[in-house]
Amino acid sequence: MNNGRKPVGILAVQGDFELHAKMLERLGAAWKLVKRPADLSGAAALIMPGGESTTMLKFFQEEGLGPAVKDFAAQGKPIFGTCAGAILLAREVLNPPQDHLGLLDITIERNAYGRQIDSSVERGECPEISSKPVEMVFIRAPIIRRVGEGVRVLGRAGGLPVLVEQGNILAATFHPELTKDETIHRYFIGKIADGK
Ligand code: GLN
Repeated sequence: MNNGRKPVGILAVQGDFELHAKMLERLGAAWKLVKRPADLSGAAALIMPGGESTTMLKFFQEEGLGPAVKDFAAQGKPIFGTCAGAILLAREVLNPPQDHLGLLDITIERNAYGRQIDSSVERGECPEISSKPVEMVFIRAPIIRRVGEGVRVLGRAGGLPVLVEQGNILAATFHPELTKDETIHRYFIGKIADGK
């Protein structure tokens, strides 16, 4: 889909990238799938979906996507990481430590809700972007253990930060594409500056 505006890139290595595409279509936004560094050219923003961060990391290394995504971020283009995508964006990863892009000053612990709680649906609060509670689906989700000084907490659930932002980088530990609630994607699209 392309409606004349630059598309939002969706990293399509693994995970539920198709549901992000559907959400963008509902919001009338153009999108394109990103598998290689060259696919980033012409994209106005990038979504890094959930999945398995170790698998994504391997793919990043094979395809040389790490430097390309860092360069994309340095151009000020918005990047939204959900769950595994948030893990890849973090400055520090625990349980176990693993390589990361370091674009977002948080410490994040993988699979931190424990094996008993494999997945859950919560009602979280994002007061700056929604007056109503936001439905949040957590699947083998990480927990943000530290939030750096320049990072804004935009959403909380169960007393924990679950949606954070640092400049052009946005990250959620939940899966906004799995609900009908368009709040988070609409907010992300709003970050795309005119002309970028
Ligand atoms: N547990 C996964 C990881 O550590 C993330 C799960 C998800 O993206 N839903 O990479």
